[in-house]
Amino acid sequence: MSDHRFQRCINHACQATYDVHEVLFACPACGDLLDVQYDWDRVEVPSSLNWFEGRWTRRVGTLDYSGVWRFRELLPFCDEEYCVTIGEGQTLLECNDGVAGYVGMNPGRVFLQYEGLNPSGSFKDNGMAAAFSHARLTGAKHVACASTGNTSAAVALYAHACGMKCTVFIGSGRIAYGKLSQALDYGAQTIQIQGNFDDCMRRVKQICGDRKLYLVNSLNPFRLEGQKAIMYRILEGLQWHTPDWIVAPGGNLGNSSAFGKAFAELAHLGLIDHIPRMAVINAAGANTLYDLYERRGIRFHNGQVDEAAINNYYNDLNARGYRPETVATAIEISRPVNLKKCLRSMEICNGIVREVPDEAIVEAKSVVGRYGLGCEPASGASIAGLRLLRQEDVIGPDETVACILTGHQLKDPAVTVKYHTQDEGAFSNQPIEVADDLDAVIAALGLAKS
Ligand SMILES: *Cc1c(COP(=O)(O)O)cnc(C)c1O
Ligand SMILES: [Zn+2]
Repeated sequence: MSDHRFQRCINHACQATYDVHEVLFACPACGDLLDVQYDWDRVEVPSSLNWFEGRWTRRVGTLDYSGVWRFRELLPFCDEEYCVTIGEGQTLLECNDGVAGYVGMNPGRVFLQYEGLNPSGSFKDNGMAAAFSHARLTGAKHVACASTGNTSAAVALYAHACGMKCTVFIGSGRIAYGKLSQALDYGAQTIQIQGNFDDCMRRVKQICGDRKLYLVNSLNPFRLEGQKAIMYRILEGLQWHTPDWIVAPGGNLGNSSAFGKAFAELAHLGLIDHIPRMAVINAAGANTLYDLYERRGIRFHNGQVDEAAINNYYNDLNARGYRPETVATAIEISRPVNLKKCLRSMEICNGIVREVPDEAIVEAKSVVGRYGLGCEPASGASIAGLRLLRQEDVIGPDETVACILTGHQLKDPAVTVKYHTQDEGAFSNQPIEVADDLDAVIAALGLAKS
């Protein structure tokens, strides 16, 4: 291959390579996932990460303003003329001692990466900036995705910014209204299938393969290139020190896949001196990764994944008629499409997986609201997971931990309002009902009469 960039099958027995201009959602030779890979010897990469600060300080042009493209040397798959940005990645890494106290960490050790600050309110925008750039590079006119909500919101926003047609497939079950309202408002053709996310995913793959629609789910390897930037910004927020741990919720496992790849590449390029460990947190009601990795010991084994054991697991889910169910709808997924890439990240990052129940997720979410900028339920899983890992003493109180808060607090107001108004937990903040009477109001305020 003459280009410095190419697509490559992650199956070690195959490793087929494809041109970057090809639109593929699986390896045509063996059906496995594809990666975007680079011949780094032929890419000009800055010799130290702090070089990127200068670009941010100057902010010449919209690409330097993007929290994805200002790191473009680390995802060099397309020329600048094709790069799409609507200002994604203007996010914040916040040291939060209130949350640290809740989880049992010492002050100054817990950092929250607020991906809810993205244009569509979730981390998905990082990936869409990259995927839509590849869509433009390949001349795509019509994009499609299956979604639990945030993907459809991000896709709809980027499609309308790029003037592309957009179709989103959502399930018939719960979808958070904040997310649905975005897809509808941004003008996406919205198809509601009688089924759940896993059913939508199967359909959209069929449709895209046959009809030449451009698929923007996280199977799309270019999307994951954009999500690597979340790690670059965490390093930047820590003055280029590598944290001890990254903690992220696990749904389709695109983030965990992208994060491990980012660190492997940075280590290969000599830009970091060690790789952090990673904890991926499943909801107990959608715990495929936890089951496979922690209970059944499935490992990446340098690409020799035990496919038979995974197929057995899925066959058993089918036989039992299993349906994932969690309040954290963004991670209500039982057949994570990036499973193998995530296993690779677990190998790269010496990773671990935990599951947390819905009550812990909702409580942790309310703690982020109480002490920080708030987040949606799935993001709360990061905090609930960190708390569990402290209780187990897997993570020490003085280690440095960066938790990914994947989505904005307003994405799913129903869960939040229910928690507070129905007094569901220790952080519930019930409204006080009072007659329209001055004395009664004063009494309710707890103030003395003047
Ligand atoms: C998509 C999503 C997730 C799951 O991320 P994966 O990369 O699919 O594991 C978690 N939280 C929120 C808010 C999301 O939108
Ligand atoms: Zn292959």
